[in-house]
Amino acid sequence: MIKKFIRRILGVKNKVIDPTQPVVFDVKEHGIDPKLVSPNAVRVTQTLQEAGFKAFLVGGAVRDLLLGVKPKDFDVATNATPDQVKRLFRRAFIIGRRFQIVHVMFGQELIEVTTFRGTTMESASKDEHGRVLRDNTFGEQHEDAVRRDFTINAMYYDPASQSVLDYHEGMVDIRSKTLRMIGVPEARFREDPVRMLRVVRFAAKLGFTIDPDTSAPMAVMAPLINNVPAARLYDEMLKLLMSGHALACLKQLRKEGLHHGLLPLLDVVLEQPMGKKFVTLALNNTDTRVRQGKPVSPGFLFAALLWHQVLEKWQAYQAAGEYPIPALHQAADDVLESQGEKLALQRKTTSDMRDLWAMQPRFERRIGKSPYKLLEHPRLRAGYDFLLLRCESGELDADLGQWWTDFMEADGSGRETLLQQKSRAEGETGAAKKRRRRGGSKRSKAAEGGANLSSGASADGGNGDISGGA
Ligand code: ATP
Ligand code: MG
Repeated sequence: MIKKFIRRILGVKNKVIDPTQPVVFDVKEHGIDPKLVSPNAVRVTQTLQEAGFKAFLVGGAVRDLLLGVKPKDFDVATNATPDQVKRLFRRAFIIGRRFQIVHVMFGQELIEVTTFRGTTMESASKDEHGRVLRDNTFGEQHEDAVRRDFTINAMYYDPASQSVLDYHEGMVDIRSKTLRMIGVPEARFREDPVRMLRVVRFAAKLGFTIDPDTSAPMAVMAPLINNVPAARLYDEMLKLLMSGHALACLKQLRKEGLHHGLLPLLDVVLEQPMGKKFVTLALNNTDTRVRQGKPVSPGFLFAALLWHQVLEKWQAYQAAGEYPIPALHQAADDVLESQGEKLALQRKTTSDMRDLWAMQPRFERRIGKSPYKLLEHPRLRAGYDFLLLRCESGELDADLGQWWTDFMEADGSGRETLLQQKSRAEGETGAAKKRRRRGGSKRSKAAEGGANLSSGASADGGNGDISGGA
């Protein structure tokens, strides 16, 4: 009833819904600008069609085209089998064992070609919670459509005829900016709990409203995420954090009541008042970089998200009598271990995270050769960016960040002057520190390190960005 009403208002074609028969929209109705379509994607659909197969752009690319946004990549769906696809292109590689897809390469551009998948059978292999484990049959186009997650992600665009095929009223939902799960949401989340993260990501990224029937089961079903393999979760989390709308995604998680129990990482990030401002700044920074097309490293991102957890443990180990540097390493081990169980951080990422964390106390040693040695660190730039975030969040004195900015920009004599100014400015305090250091007591150094860290205890003051939606 409501759908019919919306359809009338929006002027969408009114057809009897038969899930095997798509509603077809021509260019005047859907308005896709062909200039936004990658010529390589068109080459792929054209080649397949000339060989007698069906071929369409599908999924996120069609959704973005309908929204007038240039898609970041293009997926093609076809009734050709992976072997048949591979034979038609010079640089084509079959990927995956269980369900094979084909990567067709044109220089740097990758077009992913997938054979239409069949519907999920009742008999499909599932885990004890109902998550589908194996489900790899080929199928008809309408079956491929019904397996997709959201109505707006299940439309097919043929660049040759410029028509859009819509099996699930995706066009209505595009126009009313609604994110709606195809089928029975509860069953779809059970089949694949990662879809809950996808709801959050797309709602935040597109600024769409989540259909109430889609969001209703989410809070209750969130714990099912725990059964998803860690590598899959990592991929989806990364997509969420690197969507250019990470902050909005986290707000959305809160709004959906999903910030508890979804992932240990999110509990940490969203529940730590001390780290709130820091995380907000870090994510804002990441979102800006992504939107400007600048690279973002997962290592930096996860190091920032987990920093305050590391900080807390670092302080605790020092309070228990450990020296600052080993205490920091132990804190890092603990945090990485507790996250690693659910989130398969890649080795390169964890090693980048450790580097960034381990560099931090070195920025505070502004005497002798220490700053010069740090300048030679291959990850200096990232470490410095991290330091600036700490300063900006109020965890550290802003002067420290400024000093490093000046030091990095200065020439040889400028650097010497900065070091001398630093010593003079420290005056009595500095002399006292030196005396302690000369005394050779590592224990006193530990105390110094501890004092440094706890001086940052201001960091609540968050502007409430993350929790804003709650
Ligand atoms: P993005 O622009 O972020 O890449 P996307 O919609 O293209 O968005 P992908 O993860 O690239 O997202 O997936 C491509 C398409 O595959 C989706 O549009 C959807 O049709 C389908 N899909 C992906 N993941 C799932 C899932 N978990 N369940 C059902 N369908 C899915
Ligand atoms: Mg995509």
